[in-house]
Parts: sequence; C-alpha cells; structure tokens
Amino acid sequence: MIPVYKPSIGKEEEENVLKAVRSSWISSSGEFIERFENGLASYIGTKHGVATPSGTTALHLAFEALGIGAGDEVITPDLTFIASTNSIIYSRATPILSDIDRESWGLDVEKVRQKVTKKTKAVLAVHLYGNPCRIKELRELCDEKGIYLVEDCAEALGAEYGGRKVGTFGEISCFSFYGNKTITTGEGGMALTDSDELSGRMLQLRNHGQGKKRYYYDFIGFNYRMTNIAAAIGVAQLSKLENILQKKKKIVEHYQKELNGVIELQRSPAFGKSTFWLFSVLAKDAAERNSLIEHLHNKGIDTREFFAPAHLMPKLYAGSISKSDNYAVSTEISERGINLPSYPELTDGEVKQVTDSIKEFYGK
Ligand SMILES: *Cc1c(COP(=O)(O)O)cnc(C)c1O
Repeated sequence: MIPVYKPSIGKEEEENVLKAVRSSWISSSGEFIERFENGLASYIGTKHGVATPSGTTALHLAFEALGIGAGDEVITPDLTFIASTNSIIYSRATPILSDIDRESWGLDVEKVRQKVTKKTKAVLAVHLYGNPCRIKELRELCDEKGIYLVEDCAEALGAEYGGRKVGTFGEISCFSFYGNKTITTGEGGMALTDSDELSGRMLQLRNHGQGKKRYYYDFIGFNYRMTNIAAAIGVAQLSKLENILQKKKKIVEHYQKELNGVIELQRSPAFGKSTFWLFSVLAKDAAERNSLIEHLHNKGIDTREFFAPAHLMPKLYAGSISKSDNYAVSTEISERGINLPSYPELTDGEVKQVTDSIKEFYGK
C-alpha cells in the first residue's frame, strides 16, 4: 500500500535524540527546546516561539494568552481539522463557523465580515492543506474591527501570501509537528508571536501559571511543555525543511503534469504560494469521489477524503452555526476532495502509479 504520508526521519534525528537521552535532559529543559523555538521563529520571521506538546495545545495557549473566554466569539472556518474549532471551546468561547472561499479553501472574508458582532474577539484563520488563506484581507478586517487574528498554520509551514510567510500576520500563529505534518517531532506544536507580552504570558501559562516566585501562581495554567527529546527531533527536521519542501514541490509538479485535464487539481491561489501539504484533487461530486477512493484503494493506494464541515455535527456545534450562512462552498469542497499520497520520499514510480490509476478510473 502506498500511504498518504510518512515522515522523513534519518541519521540527524537519531543522533539528536541520542544526544538528548545521553545528556539525561529528557524532560522539558535542555538545549534543544530553545534551539527549536528560535529556529522556527527565525525561519518564519517572528520574534518568539513557544513549543508545546501539540498543535492543539498551542492553539489553546494562544486563546488563553489573548484572554479569550466565556461569552466571547471567535470566527473560524466551517472546514478544517476539528482541533482548530475545539481549541476555541477549550477556552469556553464560542466558535462561529464561516464558509470558505473557493480559490484558497480558507475563510471567505466577506462572510466573516457579516458575522462580526460585539461579542467577536478574534478570527481563527486556517491555512488548509498547505494553501495560504486570504490572510492579508483578514488582517485588515481584524484591524478595522479591533479584534485579534490567530493563524492556524498546522498544515502550511512555509506557505506564502504575496511573498510573505503565513504565520507572520496574526498576533499569534500556531504550528503542529504531528507525524504527518511538514516537519514532525512525533507529537508537538509551537505558538509564534512578535509580542514580548504574549510570549511571556504563553511561557507562564505553559508552566501552570507560575510567576517569578516558585510555587506561586498568577493564574491557572497548564502543563503544555514540549520535551527535549521531541525538540531534538524538531531541530533535525528544521534543518531539512527546505529540502522537504523542495522534494514535495517536485512531486506536485509531477502530479500536475500527469493529471492536468483529467481531474480538478489543487492550485496555489493567485495571491500566494501553497506548500501542498497533502496534494489534493476534486472529483465531480461525492459519489464520484467515493468510487475513486475505492478504485485507488484496490490499486494499493491509500488516500483520504477531505475533512467534514463542522456544521454537519449540530449535536456538538449547534451554537456555532450561523443562520445567515449556507456553507455551500465548504460542503461542496468537503464532498469532492481527496488527499493523494504526498510525502517527500514518494518516488517518481509511485506518483506514476497513482496518476495511471486515476487516468484509468476516468478512462483516459
Ligand atoms: C494537525 C492540525 C492541528 C492539530 O495539531 P496536533 O499537533 O495534532 O494537535 C490543528 N489544526 C489543523 C488545521 C491541523 O491540521
């Protein structure tokens, strides 16, 4: 079976982990944590990085640091991995689901504008499947309305809006290093910010809220620290990031060349550069999508259907569904989308096997 994703782990990761283990700094102090934090912050172009055990906890930390809580609303896309939506609820705020834009698969800015109320404290923008969303317009809207912008960059490390990296537009931007993300630490995440104050608050929240004096706490915090072992893997992964992105770009170009005119393809939006975290295609409709997935499965190719829109789970998200929104685009894209195998070590022969099987499905 050709999997959808697998991480590129090698000697550098092994050596760093050995170093961490042999140093006995295996908990959440040690040289690799700050190196990883500073490394990612400098790659993206922010002042601070705060490493966490996951992308989900990085998002939760962001909302806690911004002081978002009960009675507050945060506008977020209907179509995303559910951790984005749930991280808002962890802070006792209400996510307000909003439809996406056909070109970027991120938030539709006009539909966000219509949902801003007195309760709106922030927008959580998600860069989906490696595509940058309309983050500059969202930044302008948030400035106009006096609300925060948080970026969920879990799937879009290295993506750009008009030559500027995503992760530099929000007050805080969050990344994930789960095993199938662009770089991995096994499980892990990071929150980036330019603000000394927000960085300080996140560091404190990450460590139970402890203040300057040991065992004295300024607020109720969490244990959201990353281990030095995970950071050791992260430092090695970060040194390979450009190489990983380059390899993925070649794979995408191969897919595009073979599949042009066969099926609708994920494209970089005109305003930016996608990293194609999971290179994706859109079938005609849900029925065609499901039979294509089955056809590929029978050919030994693993794929994924797109995430499900949160508005289809009203038992969980009733209070988040907006009556003025029909979620037409998020519903359609979700029903038609398939993620194809996209990991850096995918060979030319394997890409050909995938594209030949898709062509066979369409009789081309
Ligand atoms: C992976 C992911 C997360 C959560 O990251 P974890 O590290 O798995 O907690 C959040 N948002 C999006 C869009 C993701 O893809």
